[in-house]
Amino acid sequence: MRLIFLGPPGAGKGTQATRLVEKHGIPQLSTGDMLRAAVAAQTPIGLKAKSVMDAGGLVSDDIVVGIVADRIEEPDARKGFILDGFPRTLAQAEALDRLLDEKGLKLDVVLELVVDQSSLVDRIVKRAEDSKAAGQPVRKDDDPEVFKQRLEAYNRDTAAVAPYYNERGLLKKIDGMKSIDEVTADIEQALAG
Ligand code: AMP
Repeated sequence: MRLIFLGPPGAGKGTQATRLVEKHGIPQLSTGDMLRAAVAAQTPIGLKAKSVMDAGGLVSDDIVVGIVADRIEEPDARKGFILDGFPRTLAQAEALDRLLDEKGLKLDVVLELVVDQSSLVDRIVKRAEDSKAAGQPVRKDDDPEVFKQRLEAYNRDTAAVAPYYNERGLLKKIDGMKSIDEVTADIEQALAG
């Protein structure tokens, strides 16, 4: 199964993707996680991406598409994958189509977590508090002001991606305002249907 999770930052994509990994045994490919790892390791890509990420902007399509192209070649992605945080622009969606075409692969479904954006800043403040309480590092870009920039980037560049997949008959919308367990159940139903 090859699927994509769409939805604004804080919609719950990462949480739900983790659950799908456990249930379906396919890897979660999070471009945000890969970029954070590159920043931590101070690779050339990480050094380029850091300031953009810290400001809540989008890393260039070339960099992100390159990372994904390499990652889907890894053996664990052969039987499928869950893309989380990619594609974030129409150019990325088109590049992914070309990558998959070259390999004779197809996407099965694109799930969009639909949420009320006014609740997202509260959610992200809670995510930062939970991380702190658990002794885990708080993401720098979960600062409310940076988060607002990420939301703006989503509305400016990423909102067009869902209609792209809708036109191709791949999009399923999921109500992301329900409880985590209910959203998981709705996702499983969407995948079965
Ligand atoms: P995320 O963990 O998905 O919220 O991503 C964290 C940050 O990484 C984003 O705010 C962007 O700066 C960058 N990023 C992650 N995925 C992408 C992508 N597909 N295109 C551009 N930038 C990305």
